[in-house]
Amino acid sequence: MMNRVEALEKLANEIVDQSVGAALSHQATQLVFGSGDPAAGIMLIGEAPGKKEDETGKPFVGASGRFLDEMLTTAGMRRDEVYITNIVKYRPPENRDPTIEEKKAFWPYLLRELEIVQPKVVITLGRHAGKIFIPDLVISKDHGVSRTVKYNNREWLVIPLYHPAAALYNGSMRQTLIDDFLSASAQIYSDQ
Ligand code: URA
Repeated sequence: MMNRVEALEKLANEIVDQSVGAALSHQATQLVFGSGDPAAGIMLIGEAPGKKEDETGKPFVGASGRFLDEMLTTAGMRRDEVYITNIVKYRPPENRDPTIEEKKAFWPYLLRELEIVQPKVVITLGRHAGKIFIPDLVISKDHGVSRTVKYNNREWLVIPLYHPAAALYNGSMRQTLIDDFLSASAQIYSDQ
């Protein structure tokens, strides 16, 4: 049987071989697949890679990623203890929002990523990632509030958070995100 590392590698190769998100891939430098602990209890899901991520092939390594690292540290977590990925795995040109079609194309692969890692909790970063699990999400109202999400015969505890980029230059939102992150980690650890 394949272990989780091998299963994730195979999944990343399939995305390339099957030309998923082909139009985006032609403009991007490389695939930005998930990274971190392949057996993590927490999976963080963002929207799509930005410039730095496109250059390095790793998710959340630019300015948003530094803020994410800061929040992880504040919550007593290390990046290599969680698993971090994006819905869309190629950088959209000019950092535009990914389209519905692009998100749909990558959704089956994100489901497979979830099945391999089997996290206890999914933390979505930003409205786009939140809405794929919670279609009626109103981020200003629902941020930080966990929900059990059922999809086919799967079930996840999803905690939707603001995107770190939205909070980078906004002091009050920054504090909201840190507070939500701390309360999410308290919920996660009290459930274990
Ligand atoms: N923003 C995202 O949503 N994902 C990244 O990987 C980087 C920035």
